[in-house]
Amino acid sequence: MYQTETEFARTLVAEACTLTRRVQDEVVANADSLTKGDRSPVTLADLTVQAVIGHRLAERYPSDAFLAEEESGSLDASPALAEKVEALVSSVRPDLDREAITAALDRGNHPGGPEGRHWVLDPVDGTKGFLRGQQYAIALALVDGGEVVVGALGCPNLPAPGERGNGDGWIFHASRGSGAWATPASGGNTNQTAVDAIDDSSRAIVCESVEAAHAAHSVQAGIAHRLGIASEPYRIDSQCKYAVLARGEASIYLRLPRDESYREKVWDHAAGAIVIEEAGGRVSDLDGNALDFSEGRRLATGRGIIATNGVLHDQVLEACRAELSG
Ligand code: AMP
Ligand code: MG
Repeated sequence: MYQTETEFARTLVAEACTLTRRVQDEVVANADSLTKGDRSPVTLADLTVQAVIGHRLAERYPSDAFLAEEESGSLDASPALAEKVEALVSSVRPDLDREAITAALDRGNHPGGPEGRHWVLDPVDGTKGFLRGQQYAIALALVDGGEVVVGALGCPNLPAPGERGNGDGWIFHASRGSGAWATPASGGNTNQTAVDAIDDSSRAIVCESVEAAHAAHSVQAGIAHRLGIASEPYRIDSQCKYAVLARGEASIYLRLPRDESYREKVWDHAAGAIVIEEAGGRVSDLDGNALDFSEGRRLATGRGIIATNGVLHDQVLEACRAELSG
């Protein structure tokens, strides 16, 4: 099922990886823009990826809706940025003018929900990692009738399995019932990928956000302690956390909200969640409920994210409950 859509999503994400890599190489070369807190490189990458993917999806699947993070307003706000976006888009689609770029970006304002088909895109997930010259992801998913059925996750800097730090990048893809697969971003063989089978929680590695603002690190440390885990957490930006779980380099991903009222955005989890489930793992909110992608642009009812290799899931939920109540 959804074989054509899956292959198309993978191609779109692969093309986006080459675009974002060019922008990030410049960021790394001009490290002083970082110290000045200049976010314009990541905005350039974000808008370019959303415009190109939004346009290509509209051409190929004109009746599918599109739900994506960015809006065209930032183009109007900065003529200098708009010019750069036009130049970068035209490197792959010279036929797209400013009007077409604006239209492709604004198609992304779909409200989501349980009806019909819509594509969900985070053009650059992990913007902080992108600006630090580290990990980030391009995350594209197809939601049909409120359920994620296809996911493609481009991780342009992810290293070879078992390694840490920056590498040549990997692309993960999955469709419901067909397993999870990984391909080197530079080309090469596609191989099936699976979570680990660790059932002794004390041997598990926990992955979590680098950014302390995005997850309650101290509560997560308490949960890890309850599970008998002594090793340091594997901190990595973006949906690359789902990727490292999907190839068995960590067994648990914890994302406990810093703020009780925070509700996760669908584009931050749709692609990653299906990759994990198809790799044999499980994803839920803190209460153990499956993530509900039919509720709009956010996961409106559930709080937080727990992803595991499946075997450890109930133990992790129990430790989480104990930590939050005690
Ligand atoms: P990560 O790289 O996993 O730390 O997460 C990056 C994502 O965190 C971004 O795409 C944001 O949408 C999301 N985010 C922003 N603020 C928060 C917050 N307060 N809590 C959780 N996630 C957040
Ligand atoms: Mg994001």
